[in-house]
Amino acid sequence: MAVDSALSSPLGPPACEKDAKALQFIEEMTRNADAVQETVLAEILSRNAKTEYLKRFKLDGANDRETYKSKLPVITYEDLQPEIQRIANGDRSAILSAHPVSEFLTSSGTSAGERKLMPTIQEELDRRQLLYSLLMPVMNLYVPGLDKGKGLYFLFVKSETKTPGGLLARPVLTSYYKSEHFKTRPYDPYNVYTSPNEAILCADSFQSMYTQMLCGLLERQQVLRLGAVFASGLLRAIRFLQLNWRLLADDIRTGTLNPKITDPAIKDCMVRILKPDPELAEFVSSECSKENWEGIITRIWPNTKYLDVIVTGAMAQYIPTLDYYSGGLPMACTMYASSECYFGLNLNPMCKPSEVSYTIMPNMAYFEFLPHEPTNSSGDSSPKLVDMVDVEMGKEYELVITTYAGLYRYRVGDILRVTGFHNSAPQFHFVRRKNVLLSIDSDKTDEAELQKAVENASKLLTEFNTSVVEYTSYADTGTIPGHYVIYWELLVKDQANSPSGELLNRCCLAMEESLNSVYRQGRVADNSIGPLEIRVVKNGTFEELMDYAISRGASINQYKVPRCVNFTPIMELLDSRVVSAHFSPALPHWTPERRR
Ligand code: AMP
Repeated sequence: MAVDSALSSPLGPPACEKDAKALQFIEEMTRNADAVQETVLAEILSRNAKTEYLKRFKLDGANDRETYKSKLPVITYEDLQPEIQRIANGDRSAILSAHPVSEFLTSSGTSAGERKLMPTIQEELDRRQLLYSLLMPVMNLYVPGLDKGKGLYFLFVKSETKTPGGLLARPVLTSYYKSEHFKTRPYDPYNVYTSPNEAILCADSFQSMYTQMLCGLLERQQVLRLGAVFASGLLRAIRFLQLNWRLLADDIRTGTLNPKITDPAIKDCMVRILKPDPELAEFVSSECSKENWEGIITRIWPNTKYLDVIVTGAMAQYIPTLDYYSGGLPMACTMYASSECYFGLNLNPMCKPSEVSYTIMPNMAYFEFLPHEPTNSSGDSSPKLVDMVDVEMGKEYELVITTYAGLYRYRVGDILRVTGFHNSAPQFHFVRRKNVLLSIDSDKTDEAELQKAVENASKLLTEFNTSVVEYTSYADTGTIPGHYVIYWELLVKDQANSPSGELLNRCCLAMEESLNSVYRQGRVADNSIGPLEIRVVKNGTFEELMDYAISRGASINQYKVPRCVNFTPIMELLDSRVVSAHFSPALPHWTPERRR
């Protein structure tokens, strides 16, 4: 029931008093976006005035936008490498931030094959928490009654390491789930999860997933929403159920936990939760043993109102599969965030995935926008960055941030298109991340990495007098987990000594060994990416591909082989020319430790 009208919000009637405050905060921030941005920048610059980085650019205590923009360069991660390396090696002086660096967040974006290390400070946890606290108040505007049940969320921690200087390095969500903010969060009837903390915090991904699924099944009637961070994660959970429902049903039938679950904290808490329920076990078995899994989500969790899962950006490729398993439930993309900074939220979370826009919250950081004009004909190589309130409707920009943790005019690498404004805060469609060719889960492989992987793998072919004349790639999400497919056209000079199928399998593994650590972690630890596949195509296939492109209007002179394809007629052409398919026979190497 809505609270009294004195607390009403332009966004809609809040569900409770706490929500009213959150919605009011959103209104205040977005109405005063420019002033908030000015204050945020001034705060960041004044508290960090004595840092080595700001002193280097002779800001001399100035904290206004104009001086800042005239003196500080726009940078990328590579520009900050020396500073970051020093912090990682234990230099505790105020290099980037006056506040002590509390840990490193390891981004899924990589640099030289390893995750980027983002220094963060303690108080950033509060800022992230603040953004999280706005999500349910917005959702409650659209979906009533979420306090009457629970959320089944598949949430995971990943491994962490220490830098040579002793700072923890781990993904931002691992840091958040392990924080007191999450572990000792106060009870909120609108935000109750079926997954116990013990299961979420278990670093073994099998035991964690098993327990979370088991708890979700036990409380299937209470589940009102079902989610994971990314769409790929939710599909992995479905796949897990396909593979493990018999064990899960056994546990439910007998009220005892499978011996594969050895984590003491999980065992302790499941003793309290798990009771024999033969009827439920029978139901799970009968649903899961059916050949057809269409709509399985709503069959098992019949009260689910929506899926809470990001399906924007690279995750859009999973929408049809999620539709299939959920019988077309709405998919809510609630927020847009990164290791560097949490950016904003979707104020209309029940909209169609193609219409999702994120409203940037001006209190999170100081945001600038670099006009993105790939076909800039004026030859202007340094377009002027604009402030948040000055972005123009319909235009595309690259996001540039200045954060409390000490990133100054840092290019995030995301391309966003302005779709509107909420008050004076812009709303953006996530267009894409720059330079990402292939992505299955949180892995991001660019053209140079793919090229290097092909080069390394093709070294195995030299003794067979064979070379790769052309290649392209495809992120195959038809399998769960999805996997990379690389199409190779080979030039075999000595037919009598052509490479064997076994050798081509090894080429798959050699490619995987060359790919970045996020890819390899997905293969090894998270099981979120399947074995890489090479499909060898007939000679002349890539020429046909060119003919096809030219027939559709491509210029002969400027034609370049696309290094990644996903257009159905092209896929059909390639697949119809496949002579053999090969899969990686083993897991590539991966350990939490960084290679450099
Ligand atoms: P990471 O640094 O590993 O946390 O990854 C952050 C990146 O994930 C962002 O810069 C985006 O490219 C992507 N991302 C995060 N949230 C979303 C979203 N809601 N929609 C699309 N892409 C997203």
